[in-house]
Amino acid sequence: MTDKRKYYLTTPIYYTNGLPHIGHTYSTIVCDTVRRYKRMRGYDVVMTTGTDEHGVNVERSAKKAGVPESEFVAKMAAEWRALWDELGVQGDEFIRTTDLKHAHTVQWLFKQCRENGFVYPGHYTGQYCIYDNAYVDVKPGENCPDCGRSTETVTEANYFFKLSAFQKPLLQWYAKHPDFIQPEARRNEVLSFVEGGLRDLSITRTTIRWGIPVPGEEPHVFYVWFDALTAYLSAVGGPQYEKTGFWPADVHLVGKEIIRFHAVYWPAFLMAAGLPLPKQIWAHGWLLMDSTKMSKSLGNVVRPRPIVHVLGMDALRYYLLRETVFGQDGNFSYDALVQRYNSDLANGLGNLASRTAAMIEKNSGGKIPKPAALQPSDSALATQAQAAIGDVVEQYDNLAFSRALEQIWSLIAATDKYLTTEHPWSLGESDADQQRRATILWTTAEVLRIATALTHPVLPESTTKVWSLLGQPGQPGSIALDNLRWGQLVPGTPLGKSQALFPRIEKAEAIERMESMENEAQKQPSPAVAPMPASTPAAIGTAAAAAPQATPEKIGIEDFAKVEMRVGQIKTAERIVGADKLLKLTVDIGTEIRQICAGIAQYYEPEKLIGRKVAVVVNLAPRKLRGVESNGMIVAASVGPEGRPVLAGFPDEDVEIGARLK
Ligand SMILES: [Zn+2]
Repeated sequence: MTDKRKYYLTTPIYYTNGLPHIGHTYSTIVCDTVRRYKRMRGYDVVMTTGTDEHGVNVERSAKKAGVPESEFVAKMAAEWRALWDELGVQGDEFIRTTDLKHAHTVQWLFKQCRENGFVYPGHYTGQYCIYDNAYVDVKPGENCPDCGRSTETVTEANYFFKLSAFQKPLLQWYAKHPDFIQPEARRNEVLSFVEGGLRDLSITRTTIRWGIPVPGEEPHVFYVWFDALTAYLSAVGGPQYEKTGFWPADVHLVGKEIIRFHAVYWPAFLMAAGLPLPKQIWAHGWLLMDSTKMSKSLGNVVRPRPIVHVLGMDALRYYLLRETVFGQDGNFSYDALVQRYNSDLANGLGNLASRTAAMIEKNSGGKIPKPAALQPSDSALATQAQAAIGDVVEQYDNLAFSRALEQIWSLIAATDKYLTTEHPWSLGESDADQQRRATILWTTAEVLRIATALTHPVLPESTTKVWSLLGQPGQPGSIALDNLRWGQLVPGTPLGKSQALFPRIEKAEAIERMESMENEAQKQPSPAVAPMPASTPAAIGTAAAAAPQATPEKIGIEDFAKVEMRVGQIKTAERIVGADKLLKLTVDIGTEIRQICAGIAQYYEPEKLIGRKVAVVVNLAPRKLRGVESNGMIVAASVGPEGRPVLAGFPDEDVEIGARLK
């Protein structure tokens, strides 16, 4: 055999200022799936992930946590690593931008660009907040959006990268390599951006301390992208990339919001330094939470750990790759997640594996039976399985994960149907019947073996269990997909030990457990970060949540005064997918617009609530309900034995929005 073909792929290098949410998880799981798939195709694969650890936000967070920056980022990087482990991600290189080898690579790249005439000294002018020690994106005279203090116009010396010189070379590159940017929509977006002209880019700062120094030019440190993007190269040898043979990268997988930096800046830096360009930049869509973009400020961020804890890592991996067409935006909901888990994993793959093993155990002494001649129904299934091998390989090659899984699951469904039609359990003990039963069970087990091998890149944990249940040697990941064929299941192979696979779970209970873990986690400070105001303890957004107490305790007026109630006006109202009691409202309380969830969906039509004035408790700490942030509480009476909520309101007087109730 000749040398193995090399394949290099990367996740984004994640910013360490926060912890991973499900969006980061998605990018990383996709990458890990491709990595596992390519290995099964015989490639020598390197996958890089890592953490981007410099910049003023890290400086600030470390200060807030009262620890040195290096300690702060070390803790954060360890958290990211640990999470990827829990998700079965097999990164080969975990690059930290504070690694020494990375600093050397950045400095070397800068030197190349400078020697080739693409770096020049200049000045950057912007509005600067002295308190936050950072540039802020406001006009002269405007205040800092973060702290509200006044800003100053500051001009600092820094180095510029001559991005403008690369407009033509980049356009030529895109034309010559039509697959360089994927998918098509992102390619068009980048093309029109570059066609519109490129401005030179400031790549160093003198106002930031926490960064890689520019050699001989202190106090200059490298700024954001020149530092972070270069990590892809540092991970595979940096200046000595030729020795490892993994540069250029085959694909950088990124989220669509950072496509421009990867498809414009990064190739321009590499061209300027005379280095080979990556072969492809693949931008995936966003994972929306119940159709809105996930963000910290909306409080609808979902973290992977509770899901892994309750349903297992494979459930999350399967859901993310099955539910979203790669490249497009996807939607995350706990409801759909548990639905998929029960229908596809518990009742699908898990059930087929355990019933097949049980039948073989009972009828064939725990050994794979020897088939007689295949009947047309057996052959039809064989043909479908054989076709799936070729199709699924092609779909993985095109990163069409959802289609690949769809095809594998239709094979599983066909096998379930085959068993129902052939009903091996009702065959008797005559020789003919025994042979027929052996053939059916062998056919079923062979489909299961093929489906398991094909699914392995997505479901590494559970397919390994099924593999050993079928008595197959090693791991499914170690087989060569190119040699996978119908008919390789060897009769007489003893089954392995049976292991629990995807136990069915009650939906409401699973969601409740995941959500309460998520809420708990949000109350905990991050490992290195001091608690933020947004993570204060629970408050309630549903009107009828608190049961009346038998003997209410008397309170003084000062206790009542602690509750700040105001008149609010409902601006929008909508149902929450998967939560039939909750409405998501936005409410104008005079000083601001709040998002509040209220447990009134069974009694109030959302459309009829718009414009209605209600009483709002405005000083409850925010909390999340079904993953949606609720910041306040709408006051309602609880009526009748079923606790029907009736909104408190102001039918007679024209009350001003924001007026306090006392
Ligand atoms: Zn400020």
